[in-house]
Amino acid sequence: MPERMLQFVRLPQQTPDKRDPALRRTDFREIYDHFQPERASAQASRCSQCGVPFCQVHCPLHNNIPDWLKLTAEGRLEEAYEIASATNNFPEICGRICPQDRLCEGNCVIERGYDSVTIGAVERFITDTAFARGWVRPLRPRLENGLSVGVIGAGPAGLAAAEQLRRLGYAVHVYDRYDRVGGLLIYGIPDFKLEKHIVLRRRLLLEEAGVCFHCGVEIGADESLAELRARHDAVLIATGVYRAREIGGPGVGLRGIVQALDYLTASNRRGLGETVAAFASGELDAAGRDVVVIGGGDTAMDCVRTAIRQGAASVRCLYRRDRANMPGSLREVKNAEEEGVEFVWLSAPEAFLGDDRVAAVRAMRMRLGLPDASGRQAAEPIERSHFTMPADLVIKALGFDPEDLPTAFTEPDLKVSRWGTLKIDRRSFMTSLPGVFAAGDIVRGASLVVWAIRDGRDAAAQMHAWMRQNAAVAIAAE
Ligand code: FAD
Ligand code: SF4
Ligand code: SF4
Repeated sequence: MPERMLQFVRLPQQTPDKRDPALRRTDFREIYDHFQPERASAQASRCSQCGVPFCQVHCPLHNNIPDWLKLTAEGRLEEAYEIASATNNFPEICGRICPQDRLCEGNCVIERGYDSVTIGAVERFITDTAFARGWVRPLRPRLENGLSVGVIGAGPAGLAAAEQLRRLGYAVHVYDRYDRVGGLLIYGIPDFKLEKHIVLRRRLLLEEAGVCFHCGVEIGADESLAELRARHDAVLIATGVYRAREIGGPGVGLRGIVQALDYLTASNRRGLGETVAAFASGELDAAGRDVVVIGGGDTAMDCVRTAIRQGAASVRCLYRRDRANMPGSLREVKNAEEEGVEFVWLSAPEAFLGDDRVAAVRAMRMRLGLPDASGRQAAEPIERSHFTMPADLVIKALGFDPEDLPTAFTEPDLKVSRWGTLKIDRRSFMTSLPGVFAAGDIVRGASLVVWAIRDGRDAAAQMHAWMRQNAAVAIAAE
């Protein structure tokens, strides 16, 4: 092993510099500065090159992390990029928004007492450098294979599959009901985690590789799934999950109580330079308001931090469990606290107060009881523990379920699970309809970008195998 590795005993963990919270509150730019090359290389050299690298085991893409860390430590960045991009279509995106504390870095096994290697930041550094130096090129096929694929949904699952299939020579057509490519990367996740130009440059690369995008086309409304199946040799459904979970209680219908994704989409559209009517009317603008966000996942964290940047008077996050039991990344909680968000743990809304528009939330304290079937401690209300907090904008961030796709696609034979996600054969990624495959959140339920990429890649490999077999059968029959 080169001497420059194993530096964890000498060098403490350092992430790229984080911008000052007072500055962060005033704009939507990403909060981490770029790694300086010397610091990236020094941080990469902290890796101890484990024989069994648990970081890699716990990365959904099984990225070859030890190898690209070693190459970065040696300053061999182009080779590091080759390795990082061999298993991941969008390493610069994962480097920014994976919850590394729960995945690769959370399982880094540097000796006890030392902080993990900053894997995500190095992955981002390698790929940003590759873009800056012109090493990232469109993946054009050597030969067209004469077959065509339709992909429904231009989120990370659809885009990863599109890139994989295009490089194999398929004519790839991606249909999306939105006007832009990227799915939740564009309209869900705010710029302070992932600036939009990072996603837009990927769209350009895919177009240069020959992927054809059809934006503003909703399958099930503008065109049917049957039409797509007739047009293409295989179809991939990667439509994500968008039906927001609801909350009950008196006053829940008052004005000023809004859905998280409506709120975030409006904010993202405004950031993209659009005029958003709901902003002009003030319905989706937190400026000057007392904001309460209900929920404890990634979406709730994005809402509270967006509200801060819009100039809210106060921002509280109401969550029925405690810090240790929340589903969102603890790193994001820390960022939110630094920016001025108040977390009201172990509390759940009971009623929304106001005449026409919401003015306050009445909540009750919760305690954690015994673990339920999922192993998580159930939250139980504490009697006579009510309290009230001012709120003239309440944002519901309770998670998402799938839309009813068999009905939307008028395909009653399309089988779904009891949660409404699409049922696929786990090995072939094929749904109950021959030649129709599925990947990403629509199969897993609301998950992570890195899992969507993994599923997109795996589904593409299986579609390729299926089409090759079908093509061979067709040729044999001629
Ligand atoms: P999506 O990204 O949802 O893309 C689906 C696409 O399909 C959309 O573009 C949609 O317009 C299109 N579509 C749907 N129906 C149709 C139709 N009938 N016809 C045509 N097009 C259709 N994950 C992380 O890893 N890190 C994070 O920090 C993170 N933050 C998040 C923040 C928010 C606010 C949200 C909501 C999610 C976040 N996630 C995060 C989760 C992550 O965004 C998703 O897991 C991931 O985007 C799923 O990818 P996908 O391709 O399956 O679906
Ligand atoms: Fe870690 Fe995500 Fe990169 Fe995998 S893709 S190495 S989990 S940051
Ligand atoms: Fe390096 Fe940590 Fe991975 Fe071990 S677990 S190979 S120390 S990054």
